[in-house]
Amino acid sequence: MSILDKYPALKAEIDKVAEVAGYLWQKGWAERNGGNITINVTEYADEAMRALPAISAPRPIGTTLPALKGCWFYCKGTQKRMRDLARDPMANGSIIRILDDCASYEIVADLPVAPTSELPSHLAVHNYLLTNNYPYKASLHTHPIELVAMTHARKFLEKDVATRLLWSMIPETKAFCPRGLGIVPYMLPSSVELADATIQAISDDYDVVMWEKHGVFAVEKDIMDAFDQVDVLNKAAQIYIAGKNMGFEPEGMTDGQMAELSAVFGLPK
Ligand SMILES: [Zn+2]
Repeated sequence: MSILDKYPALKAEIDKVAEVAGYLWQKGWAERNGGNITINVTEYADEAMRALPAISAPRPIGTTLPALKGCWFYCKGTQKRMRDLARDPMANGSIIRILDDCASYEIVADLPVAPTSELPSHLAVHNYLLTNNYPYKASLHTHPIELVAMTHARKFLEKDVATRLLWSMIPETKAFCPRGLGIVPYMLPSSVELADATIQAISDDYDVVMWEKHGVFAVEKDIMDAFDQVDVLNKAAQIYIAGKNMGFEPEGMTDGQMAELSAVFGLPK
């Protein structure tokens, strides 16, 4: 018996998480237990769901996040693999509720799978999104090969250099990842500094943030949209690399062509 049996709309969201987890594995972006997904599922928590008993003791988040009072999340489990989550999301992740102190949580369903060690940073991002009225419910961290490779070149770490190059590879990149790629310099994984820098980059108007020599962190309305943004950007990186492999520097669309795209399609940048 799973909580998903009683909540078909919640099941539809978790099914999307499982589908995306499979894509991450197929693309080679999710080696071992690499990557994380956290989804705000508060909208599905009705009276009956809120009355469910906890299946874990309260656990500290490690920080206080006032906007998360009464919120519910699905989180990938610590040490769990995306390829396993794709088959069985409720054995490789769990649904948690944030307690009224906004500093601790308890696991509610289906199994006492401890959430990812990245939970504090993911929740800090969701706290920021809710505080600032974003419609975003999903956060995704993954290791897209070509995008990460680009961060080993200093020139691509300067503000919007990679964004401009990726946008110029095919028109769809700017259309479907219209805020571009924010850059966060290398910082220790799981650190408070990395979480704070990620939130700063989101507030600087990026939906996808690149962590130098590590991976991306994306936020979107749902997990499929978050995946799509990363997929579109990585595709552009692959086109760039394909051109380089053919022995030339890809020309890229002109500034005028990209400005025209923004004007005609009403893009934000
Ligand atoms: Zn990572």
